[in-house]
Amino acid sequence: MLLQLKEIFVTEGESLNVAYQMDMSDVTVDGIYPFTSPVKVNASVQNRAGLILLNTDVSFSFSHPCDRCLEDMTREYDYSFEHILVVSAENENDDDYIEVPDYELELDELVRADILLELPNKFLCREDCKGLCPKCGKNLNLGDCSCEKKLTDPRLEILKQLMN
Ligand SMILES: [Zn+2]
Ligand SMILES: [Zn+2]
Repeated sequence: MLLQLKEIFVTEGESLNVAYQMDMSDVTVDGIYPFTSPVKVNASVQNRAGLILLNTDVSFSFSHPCDRCLEDMTREYDYSFEHILVVSAENENDDDYIEVPDYELELDELVRADILLELPNKFLCREDCKGLCPKCGKNLNLGDCSCEKKLTDPRLEILKQLMN
């Protein structure tokens, strides 16, 4: 969505609210398409004593296999982002400011980037997911497998030697 912000910039106290749904079904994360339903976007831009603030709330469901056990899972995420908009930034390296040189902001691009930066690095079905047995591949969250449970962790082997 393209926001026209000239009025906001020139009028103190002026504000603009938009609510819409954004399609991110073409965005890949780890080679899959996890945004299976539209992203709900609620954004407001306001001129507070000359400072132009952009607040964005997003909510979406996200489908991604668990990184340990590979079970498909879907989670709901809610994020909030805040940016300060300027016509031109004094320091180009300042990431806090978003430049809107023509008083126009392509909100979708910004929101997409915000979401992708905010997503966790690891997706686990639960914090203590036991993962798959490295030998038989069974999902150990569903119960133990019959593979031999010998201590094969080299760190534990060393510990055993030290204790003998
Ligand atoms: Zn898992
Ligand atoms: Zn096994």
